[in-house]
Amino acid sequence: MTDYRAQKDDDANTHNEQTVFPALTVADLNRLASSVDQAYRNFVVLDVNSHCVRLAVMKGESRWHRHPDSDECFLVLEGELEIDLADGQALRLKPGEACTIPKGVVHRTRSRVRAVNLCFEDRSAYTDVIFEDPGATSQTQNPPTMRDETREGDHRHLRRAIALAAAAREAGDQPYGSLLVGPDGHVLAEDRNTVVTERDITGHPELKLARWAARKLNRATALGTTLYTSCEPCAMCANAIARAGLGRVVFALAGNQLPDLKPAGAAAPDATRVDYQGPALFEEARVPFDGYYG
Ligand SMILES: [Zn+2]
Repeated sequence: MTDYRAQKDDDANTHNEQTVFPALTVADLNRLASSVDQAYRNFVVLDVNSHCVRLAVMKGESRWHRHPDSDECFLVLEGELEIDLADGQALRLKPGEACTIPKGVVHRTRSRVRAVNLCFEDRSAYTDVIFEDPGATSQTQNPPTMRDETREGDHRHLRRAIALAAAAREAGDQPYGSLLVGPDGHVLAEDRNTVVTERDITGHPELKLARWAARKLNRATALGTTLYTSCEPCAMCANAIARAGLGRVVFALAGNQLPDLKPAGAAAPDATRVDYQGPALFEEARVPFDGYYG
């Protein structure tokens, strides 16, 4: 794993991120916001009990998402923030205006001009990313919508992913490579397949990057990332990507293009058909869940 984050002034983007202003210090939010020159940046500025206050500077739009267990309150300081709701309604907040999005409500934030807002939320709030259609969550039974809207910048990163795939093959592994790019266009981390050399069936680069993102990035930053990969992620990786809350995936080869690249009679894919049996013993199996989800 090559982790480029260590080379960046990016400590604010981890789960264990430092709070910018400790208790009993005066938080100069205007000064902090004016120091940001990227299109997207997000900081934990203050802590309050189990909640935090985030300051976000943004221009553009987030992915559709929801927080299943936590309300989220936005207060705009500068510019204008639009919050789109899945029913087609759009809330428009100007400086000094605030709104709470209740838990479970699918939404995305958007701003045509640079906007600075505060967000009040549970520090450990979980996010479900919604791919394209606000009616469908990112579960395996609802596969993400795919379409080619790639641009020149995407092609540059895809070529790096393809180079990593070639490096994997040269090292004796399967030819797959991926990289994760942050909201500001910087490469955060990259990896390649290591299934053979590490004798690890889960050594897919997309899975490794999803795990890295879940450990290192806060949910808002993860939503703003793009995973570039030389080949469309397999089901294992696609699920990990959704659980890590990565906002976008751009791939070169589609999974259904792979068979055409293999000679007739070549070895079957890694995954075999498995015999699943169940459900069974519901009353016993439910016991560990009693009260767990509230
Ligand atoms: Zn995979």
